[in-house]
Amino acid sequence: MRKFAGNTLLIATHNAGKLGEFQEILGPLGITVTSAREHGLPEPEETGTTFVENARLKAHAAAQATGLPALADDSGLEVAALDGAPGVYTADWAETPSGRDFAMAMEKTHAKLIAAAAPRPWTARFCCTLVLAWPDGHDEVVEGHANGQLVWPRRGSDGHGYDPMFQPEGQTRTFAEMTHTEKNALSHRGAAISALLKGCFQ
Ligand code: IMP
Repeated sequence: MRKFAGNTLLIATHNAGKLGEFQEILGPLGITVTSAREHGLPEPEETGTTFVENARLKAHAAAQATGLPALADDSGLEVAALDGAPGVYTADWAETPSGRDFAMAMEKTHAKLIAAAAPRPWTARFCCTLVLAWPDGHDEVVEGHANGQLVWPRRGSDGHGYDPMFQPEGQTRTFAEMTHTEKNALSHRGAAISALLKGCFQ
């Protein structure tokens, strides 16, 4: 895999929750993180039908626009009893005319499980695909997963997105009931970042 030689990495996301997680993991390794927002980049439309297509789209757009290596994340929740939905449409389930509403998205997910009379445990996994793209068009792709189950009522107030209804395998707390350090050690994003560090930063 191609090695990242600089010390400033552009994170091609407008999602503050994701950006914070990257900063927490990469900061202690001496990597300075800058964001798409700081560079005034527009949020590209996610027209892909897979995580890797969408991550490639975001990473290459940011690398081309800035001339810097750019890292993009595309992630989502796959629920077994819903045939892998919401999947690449995880963020879309939260869309409202006035912005994203994840309480509503979690309620929608729960309502679909009830409508499908899905037996418990409601197994699910978070997926994260990372693409590190260079301005010359080269890229490297890694993936991470977090297996677990969905719980209801949702629990905890930390975290972002669907964290309050996701309980990782072998745990009694949801991601939203954990500290950031605990979540990062178990999460799909943490796993994908470890693979990226091993491949491109060591
Ligand atoms: P996208 O990658 O920007 O398309 O967004 C993926 C969506 O998946 C996010 O908006 C969140 O709703 C959800 N998601 C991804 N990772 C996490 C996580 O770690 N916790 C909770 N929700 C997540």
